[in-house]
Amino acid sequence: MLLSRLQKPAGLSVTLCLYLLALPANVLAESSENTQQTQSSREILLAELAEDESVQDVEQSEPLQGSRTSGKKTTPEIKSIQPEAAPTPNKVAPDIDLKEVAPAPAPEPPAEPGSDKIPDSTATEAPPEEAAPEPEKAEPASDLILLGNEVLPGTSTRLAWSPGIQIAGLSQPTPVLVVNGANTGPTLCLTSTIHGDELNGIEIIRQTLYDLDPAKLSGSVIGIPIVNLSGFQQGSRYLPDRRDLNRYFPGNPNGSLAGRIAHSLFTNIIQHCDMLVDIHTGSLKRTNLPQLRADMNNPAVAEFTRGFDRMAVVHSSGSPGMLRTAATDAGIRAVTMEAGESLRVQEHQIDAGVNSLASLMEKQDMVSRMFVWGNPEPVYYDSTWVRADHGGILFSDVKLGAKVSRGQVLGYVADPITNAQHPIHASSDGRIIGMAVDQVVMAGFAAYHIGTEAKIPGE
Ligand SMILES: [Zn+2]
Repeated sequence: MLLSRLQKPAGLSVTLCLYLLALPANVLAESSENTQQTQSSREILLAELAEDESVQDVEQSEPLQGSRTSGKKTTPEIKSIQPEAAPTPNKVAPDIDLKEVAPAPAPEPPAEPGSDKIPDSTATEAPPEEAAPEPEKAEPASDLILLGNEVLPGTSTRLAWSPGIQIAGLSQPTPVLVVNGANTGPTLCLTSTIHGDELNGIEIIRQTLYDLDPAKLSGSVIGIPIVNLSGFQQGSRYLPDRRDLNRYFPGNPNGSLAGRIAHSLFTNIIQHCDMLVDIHTGSLKRTNLPQLRADMNNPAVAEFTRGFDRMAVVHSSGSPGMLRTAATDAGIRAVTMEAGESLRVQEHQIDAGVNSLASLMEKQDMVSRMFVWGNPEPVYYDSTWVRADHGGILFSDVKLGAKVSRGQVLGYVADPITNAQHPIHASSDGRIIGMAVDQVVMAGFAAYHIGTEAKIPGE
Protein backbone atom coordinates (compact mmCIF):
# COMPACT_ATOMS: atom_id res chain seq x y z
CA MET A 1 0.00 0.00 0.00
CA LEU A 2 2.73 2.35 0.95
CA LEU A 3 4.86 1.41 -2.02
CA SER A 4 2.07 2.18 -4.39
CA ARG A 5 1.88 5.64 -2.91
CA LEU A 6 5.57 6.14 -3.39
CA GLN A 7 5.38 5.06 -6.98
CA LYS A 8 3.36 8.11 -7.88
CA PRO A 9 6.06 10.75 -7.88
CA ALA A 10 3.95 13.56 -9.30
CA GLY A 11 1.18 13.20 -6.80
CA LEU A 12 3.58 12.74 -4.01
CA SER A 13 5.59 15.82 -4.76
CA VAL A 14 2.49 17.97 -4.81
CA THR A 15 1.47 16.48 -1.51
CA LEU A 16 4.94 16.97 -0.18
CA CYS A 17 4.97 20.63 -1.12
CA LEU A 18 1.73 21.12 0.73
CA TYR A 19 3.10 19.32 3.72
CA LEU A 20 6.28 21.32 3.70
CA LEU A 21 4.29 24.53 3.66
CA ALA A 22 2.67 23.36 6.83
CA LEU A 23 5.92 22.22 8.34
CA PRO A 24 7.09 25.23 10.36
CA ALA A 25 4.13 25.15 12.70
CA ASN A 26 4.70 21.50 13.39
CA VAL A 27 8.38 21.94 13.97
CA LEU A 28 7.80 24.83 16.31
CA ALA A 29 5.21 22.88 18.18
CA GLU A 30 7.45 19.91 18.64
CA SER A 31 10.49 21.88 19.63
CA SER A 32 8.70 23.53 22.49
CA GLU A 33 7.34 20.30 23.79
CA ASN A 34 9.63 20.15 26.78
CA THR A 35 9.13 23.72 27.81
CA GLN A 36 7.50 23.63 31.19
CA GLN A 37 4.75 26.12 31.61
CA THR A 38 5.24 28.48 34.47
CA GLN A 39 2.46 30.71 33.53
CA SER A 40 2.14 32.92 36.52
CA SER A 41 5.70 34.15 36.71
CA ARG A 42 7.01 34.48 33.20
CA GLU A 43 5.96 36.71 30.38
CA ILE A 44 6.19 34.64 27.25
CA LEU A 45 6.22 36.73 24.15
CA LEU A 46 6.55 34.06 21.52
CA ALA A 47 3.79 31.73 20.59
CA GLU A 48 3.19 29.11 23.20
CA LEU A 49 2.97 26.16 20.93
CA ALA A 50 3.06 23.44 23.49
CA GLU A 51 1.77 20.00 22.75
CA ASP A 52 -1.88 19.93 23.58
CA GLU A 53 -3.60 18.15 26.38
CA SER A 54 -3.68 15.11 24.15
CA VAL A 55 0.01 14.51 24.56
CA GLN A 56 1.70 16.69 27.09
CA ASP A 57 -0.81 16.47 29.86
CA VAL A 58 -1.24 12.73 29.72
CA GLU A 59 2.49 12.14 29.67
CA GLN A 60 3.18 14.49 32.53
CA SER A 61 0.42 13.17 34.72
CA GLU A 62 1.11 11.96 38.18
CA PRO A 63 0.62 8.22 38.33
CA LEU A 64 -2.57 6.82 39.71
CA GLN A 65 -2.45 6.33 43.43
CA GLY A 66 -3.32 2.92 44.74
CA SER A 67 -4.88 4.29 47.87
CA ARG A 68 -7.12 7.27 47.80
CA THR A 69 -6.26 8.30 51.31
CA SER A 70 -2.59 8.75 50.52
CA GLY A 71 -3.36 11.19 47.76
CA LYS A 72 -1.51 14.45 47.70
CA LYS A 73 -4.60 16.18 46.54
CA THR A 74 -7.46 16.16 48.95
CA THR A 75 -11.03 16.43 47.88
CA PRO A 76 -11.83 20.09 47.80
CA GLU A 77 -15.09 21.13 49.28
CA ILE A 78 -17.67 21.53 46.63
CA LYS A 79 -18.61 25.13 46.05
CA SER A 80 -16.09 26.64 48.39
CA ILE A 81 -15.88 29.88 46.48
CA GLN A 82 -18.56 32.51 46.47
CA PRO A 83 -19.11 34.10 43.11
CA GLU A 84 -18.50 37.80 43.03
CA ALA A 85 -21.61 39.68 43.90
CA ALA A 86 -23.16 41.52 41.00
CA PRO A 87 -22.61 45.22 41.52
CA THR A 88 -25.94 46.34 40.15
CA PRO A 89 -29.51 45.06 40.43
CA ASN A 90 -30.20 42.12 38.18
CA LYS A 91 -32.57 42.17 35.28
CA VAL A 92 -34.88 39.33 34.50
CA ALA A 93 -33.56 37.56 31.43
CA PRO A 94 -36.05 37.04 28.61
CA ASP A 95 -37.39 33.52 28.30
CA ILE A 96 -36.24 32.29 24.91
CA ASP A 97 -36.99 29.04 23.18
CA LEU A 98 -33.46 28.10 22.23
CA LYS A 99 -34.73 26.06 19.28
CA GLU A 100 -36.23 29.16 17.66
CA VAL A 101 -34.19 31.00 15.08
CA ALA A 102 -32.77 33.98 16.90
CA PRO A 103 -31.85 37.44 15.65
CA ALA A 104 -28.17 38.30 15.59
CA PRO A 105 -27.09 39.75 18.91
CA ALA A 106 -27.05 43.51 19.08
CA PRO A 107 -23.61 45.11 19.18
CA GLU A 108 -22.57 45.61 22.72
CA PRO A 109 -22.85 49.19 23.95
CA PRO A 110 -19.74 50.55 25.64
CA ALA A 111 -20.29 49.75 29.26
CA GLU A 112 -18.65 49.66 32.63
CA PRO A 113 -17.14 46.29 33.39
CA GLY A 114 -19.65 44.22 35.26
CA SER A 115 -22.63 46.24 34.19
CA ASP A 116 -25.67 44.53 32.85
CA LYS A 117 -26.73 43.87 29.38
CA ILE A 118 -29.53 41.85 27.98
CA PRO A 119 -29.31 40.56 24.46
CA ASP A 120 -31.78 41.81 21.96
CA SER A 121 -34.89 39.81 22.55
CA THR A 122 -37.43 41.64 20.43
CA ALA A 123 -38.01 38.78 18.04
CA THR A 124 -37.83 36.07 20.60
CA GLU A 125 -41.29 35.97 22.06
CA ALA A 126 -41.13 32.35 22.89
CA PRO A 127 -44.35 30.43 22.78
CA PRO A 128 -45.20 30.05 26.43
CA GLU A 129 -44.30 26.42 26.93
CA GLU A 130 -46.18 24.83 29.74
CA ALA A 131 -44.67 26.88 32.50
CA ALA A 132 -46.11 24.62 35.15
CA PRO A 133 -43.38 22.78 37.00
CA GLU A 134 -43.59 19.03 37.08
CA PRO A 135 -45.84 18.26 40.01
CA GLU A 136 -44.22 15.01 41.08
CA LYS A 137 -40.72 16.47 41.31
CA ALA A 138 -39.34 17.97 44.46
CA GLU A 139 -38.63 21.58 45.26
CA PRO A 140 -39.03 24.27 42.69
CA ALA A 141 -35.80 25.94 41.71
CA SER A 142 -34.78 29.47 42.53
CA ASP A 143 -33.61 32.16 40.16
CA LEU A 144 -30.20 31.76 38.63
CA ILE A 145 -28.23 34.99 38.84
CA LEU A 146 -25.66 35.17 36.08
CA LEU A 147 -23.94 38.04 34.27
CA GLY A 148 -26.21 40.58 35.89
CA ASN A 149 -29.31 38.72 34.81
CA GLU A 150 -31.91 36.80 36.70
CA VAL A 151 -32.87 33.63 34.88
CA LEU A 152 -36.20 32.52 36.27
CA PRO A 153 -36.88 28.86 37.02
CA GLY A 154 -38.32 26.97 34.10
CA THR A 155 -36.89 29.35 31.49
CA SER A 156 -34.02 29.36 29.03
CA THR A 157 -32.20 32.33 27.58
CA ARG A 158 -29.15 33.68 25.82
CA LEU A 159 -26.85 35.94 27.78
CA ALA A 160 -23.67 37.71 26.79
CA TRP A 161 -20.29 37.61 28.45
CA SER A 162 -17.62 40.22 27.75
CA PRO A 163 -14.17 39.88 29.23
CA GLY A 164 -13.77 43.63 28.84
CA ILE A 165 -10.44 43.51 27.04
CA GLN A 166 -11.49 44.76 23.66
CA ILE A 167 -11.86 48.26 22.27
CA ALA A 168 -15.14 49.13 23.91
CA GLY A 169 -16.90 50.37 20.79
CA LEU A 170 -15.89 47.29 18.82
CA SER A 171 -16.51 44.80 21.56
CA GLN A 172 -18.37 41.69 20.62
CA PRO A 173 -19.97 39.77 23.46
CA THR A 174 -19.59 36.02 23.76
CA PRO A 175 -22.94 34.20 23.78
CA VAL A 176 -23.82 32.20 26.86
CA LEU A 177 -26.76 29.79 26.72
CA VAL A 178 -28.62 29.17 29.95
CA VAL A 179 -31.38 26.74 30.83
CA ASN A 180 -32.64 27.10 34.38
CA GLY A 181 -34.77 24.11 35.25
CA ALA A 182 -38.09 24.32 37.02
CA ASN A 183 -36.76 22.09 39.80
CA THR A 184 -33.72 22.36 42.01
CA GLY A 185 -30.57 20.54 41.14
CA PRO A 186 -26.91 21.04 40.35
CA THR A 187 -25.45 23.50 37.84
CA LEU A 188 -23.65 21.87 34.94
CA CYS A 189 -21.39 24.07 32.82
CA LEU A 190 -20.28 23.18 29.30
CA THR A 191 -17.46 25.10 27.65
CA SER A 192 -16.02 24.66 24.19
CA THR A 193 -13.60 26.26 21.77
CA ILE A 194 -11.21 27.67 24.33
CA HIS A 195 -8.95 26.75 21.41
CA GLY A 196 -10.54 28.66 18.57
CA ASP A 197 -9.99 25.96 15.94
CA GLU A 198 -11.82 23.21 17.80
CA LEU A 199 -15.31 22.96 16.38
CA ASN A 200 -17.01 19.71 17.43
CA GLY A 201 -17.78 21.04 20.92
CA ILE A 202 -19.75 23.98 19.54
CA GLU A 203 -22.28 21.62 18.06
CA ILE A 204 -22.22 19.28 21.07
CA ILE A 205 -23.23 22.20 23.29
CA ARG A 206 -25.83 23.51 20.86
CA GLN A 207 -27.56 20.17 20.56
CA THR A 208 -27.38 19.51 24.28
CA LEU A 209 -28.78 22.85 25.34
CA TYR A 210 -31.43 23.14 22.66
CA ASP A 211 -32.88 19.75 23.51
CA LEU A 212 -33.42 20.58 27.16
CA ASP A 213 -36.93 21.35 28.30
CA PRO A 214 -36.65 23.85 31.17
CA ALA A 215 -39.96 22.62 32.61
CA LYS A 216 -38.52 19.13 33.00
CA LEU A 217 -34.99 20.00 34.06
CA SER A 218 -33.76 19.75 37.65
CA GLY A 219 -30.89 22.15 38.10
CA SER A 220 -29.42 24.33 35.42
CA VAL A 221 -27.12 24.03 32.45
CA ILE A 222 -24.86 26.87 31.31
CA GLY A 223 -23.23 26.49 27.90
CA ILE A 224 -20.53 28.65 26.30
CA PRO A 225 -20.17 27.20 22.82
CA ILE A 226 -17.31 29.47 21.73
CA VAL A 227 -15.13 30.75 24.55
CA ASN A 228 -12.32 32.01 22.30
CA LEU A 229 -14.40 34.00 19.85
CA SER A 230 -11.48 35.83 18.23
CA GLY A 231 -9.54 32.62 17.69
CA PHE A 232 -12.65 31.00 16.26
CA GLN A 233 -13.13 33.81 13.77
CA GLN A 234 -9.56 33.42 12.57
CA GLY A 235 -9.49 29.63 12.64
CA SER A 236 -6.74 29.87 15.23
CA ARG A 237 -6.15 27.83 18.32
CA TYR A 238 -4.72 30.83 20.15
CA LEU A 239 -5.70 34.25 21.41
CA PRO A 240 -4.78 37.37 19.41
CA ASP A 241 -1.56 37.62 21.43
CA ARG A 242 -0.66 34.03 20.46
CA ARG A 243 -1.22 32.73 23.93
CA ASP A 244 -2.98 29.49 24.77
CA LEU A 245 -5.94 30.51 26.93
CA ASN A 246 -6.04 27.04 28.48
CA ARG A 247 -2.80 27.68 30.34
CA TYR A 248 -3.99 30.79 32.18
CA PHE A 249 -6.82 29.72 34.47
CA PRO A 250 -8.02 30.79 36.99
CA GLY A 251 -6.56 33.99 35.58
CA ASN A 252 -5.41 37.31 36.88
CA PRO A 253 -7.39 40.57 36.58
CA ASN A 254 -4.13 42.53 36.25
CA GLY A 255 -2.26 40.02 34.13
CA SER A 256 -1.78 39.44 30.43
CA LEU A 257 -4.62 39.44 27.94
CA ALA A 258 -5.04 35.70 28.44
CA GLY A 259 -4.93 36.08 32.21
CA ARG A 260 -7.65 38.72 32.15
CA ILE A 261 -9.94 36.74 29.88
CA ALA A 262 -9.42 33.66 32.03
CA HIS A 263 -10.15 35.61 35.21
CA SER A 264 -13.31 37.12 33.76
CA LEU A 265 -14.63 33.77 32.60
CA PHE A 266 -13.73 32.08 35.84
CA THR A 267 -15.28 34.62 38.19
CA ASN A 268 -18.32 35.52 36.13
CA ILE A 269 -19.36 32.03 35.05
CA ILE A 270 -17.25 29.07 36.12
CA GLN A 271 -17.60 29.76 39.83
CA HIS A 272 -21.34 29.29 39.47
CA CYS A 273 -20.85 25.68 38.35
CA ASP A 274 -21.03 22.50 40.38
CA MET A 275 -19.80 20.46 37.44
CA LEU A 276 -17.83 21.38 34.34
CA VAL A 277 -17.21 19.61 31.05
CA ASP A 278 -14.64 21.49 28.97
CA ILE A 279 -14.85 20.21 25.39
CA HIS A 280 -11.78 20.01 23.14
CA THR A 281 -10.51 18.14 20.11
CA GLY A 282 -7.11 16.82 19.20
CA SER A 283 -4.83 19.51 17.85
CA LEU A 284 -1.84 19.75 15.55
CA LYS A 285 -3.43 17.27 13.18
CA ARG A 286 -4.20 14.64 15.73
CA THR A 287 -7.57 13.05 16.25
CA ASN A 288 -9.11 11.54 19.35
CA LEU A 289 -11.69 8.91 20.02
CA PRO A 290 -14.36 10.62 22.13
CA GLN A 291 -12.82 10.50 25.58
CA LEU A 292 -12.54 12.17 28.93
CA ARG A 293 -9.39 13.42 30.60
CA ALA A 294 -9.91 13.29 34.32
CA ASP A 295 -7.82 13.39 37.45
CA MET A 296 -8.71 9.95 38.73
CA ASN A 297 -6.78 10.63 41.92
CA ASN A 298 -9.55 13.02 42.89
CA PRO A 299 -12.38 10.86 44.26
CA ALA A 300 -15.09 13.42 43.44
CA VAL A 301 -13.87 13.64 39.85
CA ALA A 302 -13.48 9.85 39.57
CA GLU A 303 -17.06 9.39 40.71
CA PHE A 304 -18.20 12.12 38.31
CA THR A 305 -16.74 10.25 35.31
CA ARG A 306 -19.01 7.29 35.99
CA GLY A 307 -21.95 9.24 34.62
CA PHE A 308 -20.55 9.38 31.09
CA ASP A 309 -21.82 6.48 28.96
CA ARG A 310 -19.62 4.83 26.41
CA MET A 311 -16.78 7.24 26.92
CA ALA A 312 -13.16 6.29 27.11
CA VAL A 313 -11.71 7.79 30.28
CA VAL A 314 -8.00 8.49 30.52
CA HIS A 315 -6.34 9.53 33.74
CA SER A 316 -4.58 12.85 33.51
CA SER A 317 -3.83 14.98 36.52
CA GLY A 318 -4.00 18.17 34.51
CA SER A 319 -1.41 20.90 34.02
CA PRO A 320 -1.39 24.22 35.88
CA GLY A 321 -3.44 26.82 34.09
CA MET A 322 -5.90 24.46 32.46
CA LEU A 323 -9.53 25.34 33.01
CA ARG A 324 -10.32 21.90 34.34
CA THR A 325 -7.41 22.03 36.80
CA ALA A 326 -8.41 25.44 38.09
CA ALA A 327 -12.04 24.38 38.35
CA THR A 328 -11.14 21.21 40.23
CA ASP A 329 -8.98 23.25 42.59
CA ALA A 330 -12.01 25.45 43.24
CA GLY A 331 -14.11 22.45 44.23
CA ILE A 332 -15.91 21.98 40.92
CA ARG A 333 -16.06 18.46 39.51
CA ALA A 334 -14.42 18.99 36.15
CA VAL A 335 -13.27 16.90 33.21
CA THR A 336 -12.02 17.60 29.71
CA MET A 337 -13.93 15.94 26.89
CA GLU A 338 -11.87 15.32 23.75
CA ALA A 339 -13.73 14.59 20.53
CA GLY A 340 -12.18 14.29 17.10
CA GLU A 341 -9.99 16.70 15.19
CA SER A 342 -9.60 20.43 15.10
CA LEU A 343 -11.01 22.48 12.20
CA ARG A 344 -13.56 19.81 11.40
CA VAL A 345 -17.20 19.20 12.24
CA GLN A 346 -17.59 15.45 12.71
CA GLU A 347 -21.04 13.99 13.12
CA HIS A 348 -20.08 10.76 14.87
CA GLN A 349 -17.93 12.56 17.39
CA ILE A 350 -20.68 15.07 18.04
CA ASP A 351 -23.27 12.33 18.53
CA ALA A 352 -21.01 10.56 20.99
CA GLY A 353 -20.51 13.76 22.98
CA VAL A 354 -24.22 14.64 23.02
CA ASN A 355 -25.26 11.14 24.08
CA SER A 356 -22.69 11.00 26.81
CA LEU A 357 -23.74 14.38 28.22
CA ALA A 358 -27.37 13.21 28.17
CA SER A 359 -26.41 10.18 30.21
CA LEU A 360 -24.44 12.39 32.59
CA MET A 361 -27.45 14.62 33.20
CA GLU A 362 -29.59 11.58 33.82
CA LYS A 363 -27.13 10.09 36.29
CA GLN A 364 -27.10 13.44 38.09
CA ASP A 365 -30.92 13.28 38.27
CA MET A 366 -31.23 16.41 36.15
CA VAL A 367 -33.28 14.82 33.37
CA SER A 368 -34.97 11.50 32.75
CA ARG A 369 -34.24 9.92 29.43
CA MET A 370 -36.86 8.11 27.46
CA PHE A 371 -34.55 5.65 25.77
CA VAL A 372 -31.59 3.96 27.28
CA TRP A 373 -30.05 0.97 25.59
CA GLY A 374 -28.63 -1.50 28.02
CA ASN A 375 -26.55 -0.22 30.84
CA PRO A 376 -23.55 1.31 29.10
CA GLU A 377 -20.67 2.52 31.16
CA PRO A 378 -17.46 4.39 30.57
CA VAL A 379 -14.30 2.43 29.86
CA TYR A 380 -11.18 3.36 31.78
CA TYR A 381 -7.77 3.33 30.17
CA ASP A 382 -4.16 3.65 31.06
CA SER A 383 -2.42 5.13 28.09
CA THR A 384 0.91 5.73 26.44
CA TRP A 385 1.97 7.67 23.38
CA VAL A 386 4.07 6.02 20.71
CA ARG A 387 6.41 8.46 19.01
CA ALA A 388 8.02 8.44 15.59
CA ASP A 389 11.76 7.81 15.72
CA HIS A 390 12.45 9.25 12.28
CA GLY A 391 11.41 12.27 10.31
CA GLY A 392 9.44 11.80 7.11
CA ILE A 393 5.89 11.32 5.98
CA LEU A 394 3.64 9.36 8.30
CA PHE A 395 1.31 6.83 6.71
CA SER A 396 -0.92 4.93 9.10
CA ASP A 397 -2.01 1.34 8.71
CA VAL A 398 -4.47 1.49 11.61
CA LYS A 399 -7.61 3.50 12.16
CA LEU A 400 -8.80 5.40 15.19
CA GLY A 401 -10.43 3.00 17.62
CA ALA A 402 -8.62 -0.08 16.29
CA LYS A 403 -7.59 -2.84 18.69
CA VAL A 404 -3.87 -3.44 18.39
CA SER A 405 -1.39 -5.85 19.89
CA ARG A 406 2.13 -5.23 21.13
CA GLY A 407 4.65 -5.18 18.32
CA GLN A 408 2.06 -4.67 15.61
CA VAL A 409 3.03 -2.20 12.88
CA LEU A 410 0.79 0.84 13.29
CA GLY A 411 2.19 2.79 10.38
CA TYR A 412 5.33 3.91 8.61
CA VAL A 413 7.40 7.03 8.39
CA ALA A 414 8.68 7.22 4.84
CA ASP A 415 11.65 9.36 3.90
CA PRO A 416 10.61 10.96 0.61
CA ILE A 417 14.19 11.45 -0.52
CA THR A 418 15.94 8.22 0.43
CA ASN A 419 12.85 5.99 0.20
CA ALA A 420 13.71 4.54 3.58
CA GLN A 421 10.67 3.31 5.44
CA HIS A 422 10.57 3.17 9.20
CA PRO A 423 7.77 1.15 10.77
CA ILE A 424 6.23 2.29 14.03
CA HIS A 425 5.33 -0.59 16.37
CA ALA A 426 2.70 -0.72 19.09
CA SER A 427 4.35 -0.58 22.49
CA SER A 428 1.55 -2.51 24.15
CA ASP A 429 -1.73 -4.28 23.57
CA GLY A 430 -4.68 -1.94 23.57
CA ARG A 431 -6.81 0.37 21.52
CA ILE A 432 -5.90 3.38 19.42
CA ILE A 433 -7.66 6.15 21.36
CA GLY A 434 -5.84 8.99 19.61
CA MET A 435 -3.56 9.30 16.61
CA ALA A 436 -1.94 11.70 14.19
CA VAL A 437 -3.46 12.04 10.75
CA ASP A 438 -1.07 11.32 7.87
CA GLN A 439 1.38 14.22 7.67
CA VAL A 440 5.02 15.24 7.72
CA VAL A 441 6.54 14.41 11.09
CA MET A 442 9.89 14.90 12.77
CA ALA A 443 11.56 12.39 15.03
CA GLY A 444 9.85 12.45 18.40
CA PHE A 445 6.42 13.28 17.05
CA ALA A 446 3.70 11.67 19.16
CA ALA A 447 1.88 9.59 16.58
CA TYR A 448 -0.33 7.02 18.32
CA HIS A 449 -2.07 7.07 21.68
CA ILE A 450 -2.63 3.52 22.88
CA GLY A 451 -5.12 2.92 25.69
CA THR A 452 -5.06 -0.22 27.78
CA GLU A 453 -8.20 -0.99 29.73
CA ALA A 454 -7.70 -0.46 33.42
CA LYS A 455 -9.70 -0.62 36.58
CA ILE A 456 -10.84 2.48 38.32
CA PRO A 457 -8.33 3.32 41.02
CA GLY A 458 -9.48 2.20 44.42
CA GLU A 459 -11.68 -0.56 43.10
ZN1 LIG B 1 -8.21 22.24 22.94
